[in-house]
Amino acid sequence: MIDRERSAARIQADIETLSGPRYTQSDAAICRYAYTDVYANTLAFFTDALEALGFEVILDPVGTLVARNVPPGTPALGIGSHCDSNRNGGRFDGSLGVCIALELCRLNVDLALGLPLQLVAWLEEEGSGFGQMLLGSRIAAGRVTEEELRGPIRELDTDRSFWEAAEAAGLEPARWRESARVFDDLAAWIEPHIEQGRVLQDTGRRIAVVDAIAGYVHADVSVAGRADHAGATPMGFRIDPTLVVAETILELERATLAAGKGTVGTVGEIELEPGLINAIASNARFSLDIRGVDEAAFLGVYDDVAALARSSAEAHGTTAEIVERQRVPATPLDARVVEALQASAVEAGEEFTTMPSGAAHDTMCVAPFVPSAMVFLSCRDGISHSPLEDASFADAALATEVVLGALKRLRPPAEGQVL
Ligand SMILES: [Zn+2]
Repeated sequence: MIDRERSAARIQADIETLSGPRYTQSDAAICRYAYTDVYANTLAFFTDALEALGFEVILDPVGTLVARNVPPGTPALGIGSHCDSNRNGGRFDGSLGVCIALELCRLNVDLALGLPLQLVAWLEEEGSGFGQMLLGSRIAAGRVTEEELRGPIRELDTDRSFWEAAEAAGLEPARWRESARVFDDLAAWIEPHIEQGRVLQDTGRRIAVVDAIAGYVHADVSVAGRADHAGATPMGFRIDPTLVVAETILELERATLAAGKGTVGTVGEIELEPGLINAIASNARFSLDIRGVDEAAFLGVYDDVAALARSSAEAHGTTAEIVERQRVPATPLDARVVEALQASAVEAGEEFTTMPSGAAHDTMCVAPFVPSAMVFLSCRDGISHSPLEDASFADAALATEVVLGALKRLRPPAEGQVL
């Protein structure tokens, strides 16, 4: 057991500090993007706090913060998240996970636990600086090429390349491959984060153990039509692409429900040209966002829906073109780390849920290299990526206790100790 009130107060103080003018470009929202002054101030805040606890803190060649209380080469337990914000962000998404990780480092000293720890604050998770989600962890995982860093990945506010922006921030992007060293000595990795959904609130639970992160397919469907007058063109004389849009959306709902296993599908964008009340559309474009933790299930839905869009278009005398934007595989998390968190939650005396994450997280890039899991805490009304984001500091303290219990269970054997 920890003193939850004290931990809640310390986490609250950190979050309130990081909501101040030194740490956000706006007082109406948290605006904290990679390589900005307020981002550097935020890393300095964590660096000072961690050095005071005896950690050695470095920025890796691209600016991911890595802090260790044991020397390189010694296995450590990884904790952390990201401290950049969404473009119009709230106080909790990302930063709360790093604040909880900092509180774990404090408790390790307070309680003389002697846990070997490595705290990581990943660079640019939200994509607000360079339009690239999970950038720091993707660089570490080798999922980004040098060509992309030198050219097409550009800073949204200045149009400098990532490479130029990193150099201007005093970093050494030429050594980007060394970012992968962050994984070298990790025996396990746990990322605490707000849920960003309403499952916990609606089921009256405060925390969840996350056992998988959904993969997804993002695609655009374009359907050609014929731009005729809405009054002068009888029904039988039309090529109306909106019928294909409607039929495809209904098929998406049917197929996701039939697939089950937490598969979800969303049409979030619909554009009609010319987009006038009295014109049959000449073209319709809509987006597909299909996600799930079961690869076969969510990819099956995508194939179904793509086939239906094509056959519906054909039936209406036209064609549908489907262009994939991005495909990301589902990430199963590690059973041993999940079980350590579950056992710790039971010990904390708290009812909890085990659930997948529908949203993407840096842990997707860590999990292929290090046994990993996540802890979610409830956030008010499921709101995130908004200044209205809210979560309870008491829940943050509970999450801290649950992660601490799991870290104790996952403690790597000391040198010379036989398992
Ligand atoms: Zn986040």
